[in-house]
Amino acid sequence: MANIWVFIDQFKGAALAASWETLGAAKKLAADLGGATVTALVLGQNVEGVAKESFEYGADAAMLCDDATLADFRVRPYSALIAKLYKEAAQKPEVILGPATTRGRDVFGMAAVELGTSAIADGAGLNVKDGAVYVTRPAYAGKLLSTVVAKTRRPQVITLRPRAFPKPEPMAGKTGAITRVDPALKEDEIRTKVMGYAIDEGKVSLADAKIIVSGGRGVGGPEGFAPVRDLAETLGAAVGASRAAVDAGWIPYSNQVGQTGRTVSPDLYIASGISGAIQHQAGMRTSKLIVAINKDAEAPIFKLARYGVVGDLFKILPALNVEFKKRLGK
Ligand code: FAD
Repeated sequence: MANIWVFIDQFKGAALAASWETLGAAKKLAADLGGATVTALVLGQNVEGVAKESFEYGADAAMLCDDATLADFRVRPYSALIAKLYKEAAQKPEVILGPATTRGRDVFGMAAVELGTSAIADGAGLNVKDGAVYVTRPAYAGKLLSTVVAKTRRPQVITLRPRAFPKPEPMAGKTGAITRVDPALKEDEIRTKVMGYAIDEGKVSLADAKIIVSGGRGVGGPEGFAPVRDLAETLGAAVGASRAAVDAGWIPYSNQVGQTGRTVSPDLYIASGISGAIQHQAGMRTSKLIVAINKDAEAPIFKLARYGVVGDLFKILPALNVEFKKRLGK
């Protein structure tokens, strides 16, 4: 029987929603592969709870490495461990899946190198033909969808775009067998050390956000983000930005959406004061509903938007905020 491994991305013992979405996609893939076993790979420190949780989201088994060297994410100890587990596995997985989160992308690129296989990044659809997994992924900054297959190389190492697959409903109380494994590297074999973390702007993470309110050069300065943040607060949304606003130093880079920033796929993306350059679109065009607010009726963002408001964001955003507050009873 085929095996599928799923890397569970977690931060300080809390799994990212994208990890469970990936597990859900793995279960569907397992059925398409004729009944494969899905094993969650849980790496970190104090993460046994995540391994247990993985069963509720569909894992048949879990491999757990709970070790101080894995407390902070560093690509080498994580990728070396995945490669070691693969090489030592009696039943090697056909497919290794992970979420295309910042850590997932990092570790899968490196693990693929260590395994001498190819990595297919940012999958938004999976299909099986003759035992091979065909991955649909955005190409040309999201303008086209391409289908990619690793024809000969095994394992097939694939990351999946967050929010492109549904998160399964947890099955409360479902359990399974946890296999504990040792780390691949000792602390003195690891060349980097995490010195600390900077607090991200905004309360909601861009990657997981169901709603994003973004601002661009049109906000005119750092204080121009106030109405963007106010509306985001009301909607429980994350704050996004164009590169122009980030380059101007008005908002941190971690808020940037686009080709050289985050790729996001929320249910609702509100772009205010953003022209809609192709590089910005590359990061947000798969959003389910796009609303654009721009005072230039010719701005390219309107071609992408389902709803467009031609007007001044400093009038439209506060008006939307008042109306949403009223309707949401805030
Ligand atoms: P502008 O294009 O200047 O647009 C500002 C808009 O605000 C205008 O449409 C204007 O009409 C409108 N406006 C002004 N005042 C108001 C107001 N009061 N009310 C309403 N609307 C108003 N960009 C990204 O965003 N993300 C990326 O990851 C990215 N990566 C890049 C990578 C490369 C290699 C390159 C070359 C570029 C990249 N860019 C990226 C930059 C991109 O090409 C654009 O320059 C950038 O997206 C423009 O940002 P903007 O829309 O905020 O600014």
